[in-house]
Amino acid sequence: MRQVIRVGILIGVSSLCGAQARPLPGPDVEQIYQRLLPQIEKIAAFDHHAHPGFADDPDVDAMAAPPNASAPLRTREDNAELAAAAKALFGYPYNDLSSEHAQWLLDKKNELKKHLAGTVYFDSILDKVNIEMSVANRAMMADYLDPKRFAWVFFADSFMWPFNNERETGRNPDEGVFIPLQEKMLGRWMQQENVSKLPATFDEYLKFITRVLEDNSKRGGIAMKFEVAYFRPTTFTDPPRAEAADIYQRYVVGGIPTEREYRSFQDFIFRYLVQEGGRLHLPVHIHSAVGIGDYFSLSESNIMHLESVLRDPRYGSTTFVMIHGGYPLEREAIWLAAIKNVYLDSSFGELAQYPSAFKNTLKMWLETFPDKITFGTDCFPYNQVLGTEETYWLGVESSRTALAAALAEMISEGEITEARALGLAHAYLHDTAVKLYEGRVH
Ligand SMILES: [Zn+2]
Repeated sequence: MRQVIRVGILIGVSSLCGAQARPLPGPDVEQIYQRLLPQIEKIAAFDHHAHPGFADDPDVDAMAAPPNASAPLRTREDNAELAAAAKALFGYPYNDLSSEHAQWLLDKKNELKKHLAGTVYFDSILDKVNIEMSVANRAMMADYLDPKRFAWVFFADSFMWPFNNERETGRNPDEGVFIPLQEKMLGRWMQQENVSKLPATFDEYLKFITRVLEDNSKRGGIAMKFEVAYFRPTTFTDPPRAEAADIYQRYVVGGIPTEREYRSFQDFIFRYLVQEGGRLHLPVHIHSAVGIGDYFSLSESNIMHLESVLRDPRYGSTTFVMIHGGYPLEREAIWLAAIKNVYLDSSFGELAQYPSAFKNTLKMWLETFPDKITFGTDCFPYNQVLGTEETYWLGVESSRTALAAALAEMISEGEITEARALGLAHAYLHDTAVKLYEGRVH
């Protein structure tokens, strides 16, 4: 009875401050959108997931596009929005990117690169799309990226593939491209640490991994990134150290571990890296969405497989960023962000979907854990014409317009005030992500 009365009082109070939220936006929604958008465009953003670089730079990714992969509609090269991007960034005079028109764009970019030498060219691109600072998720950093504007996120997967990878490489044509690149990446870490061959003992191998993490942090790395979902299922068991050590000891000298042995070893290494990420203040970024390539297994890389790792109290001091927010399982993903040290990045969702659909993703997230979501473009230099520049633009424009639309609906439906909406916009586009790096980014 008392409870009923209390409910009655609460309803009375809430109606005084603006009534219950409505299920449909009012006729004012378009007007609110038009009012919000220019304010949202003024917010200097932090891009939490991006692969900036020139198309001919081999250090952009630790991985490569798989051969002959299918692309969803919006990410195909005939998307007219890409011509709009070139227009906005470079004054491109055509409405398509046909090869004879594209030559104009190539010439223009080459001319600008000459004028804007060193780090100035990419700084000017960030200025044009109003990104204050961007992650550079790259194999190695480039001297043409200004460290004041680009923060390195390095790849950590390769430590999981130190043995004979014949079976792993032969699994399908995509792995035939991916796994040798992991071997190459591990070789580069060894070179960096002046290690000519794999350490003889497991203890030494773990020390080598830690040394790479520490050195990368000193060289400007702010986080480590896993794209492990491309190479194996993301279900991680919890094998004891002795088991992993035994497997290492047996196969570091040669021979192919059984699939079960290899996976157990990798499970231990993955958990070791996650734990070190907490100790060394290096947030752990994990690709958690569908991936490119026709062999990418959505069921085996389901973001929910990571729940047992994310909710493990042993990793409570590790900050996790779920890159791509679990797309297309973003509804499940936002509930993982209930965990205090778990954050979502929205990149790729804004490119795989058009803004009308991406708006719904953002709205659902903003209505659930708005303080745990961060903005990213997933820009990438696909080729000389369709470069980092155009994909930055498309990612930024899509995210800002979808954000303005999501917030306009929430205001019009009586969920939040306009002042609160702008606070949420700042948090998503900049503040929430920046806070994770303890002053190392701005
Ligand atoms: Zn990416």
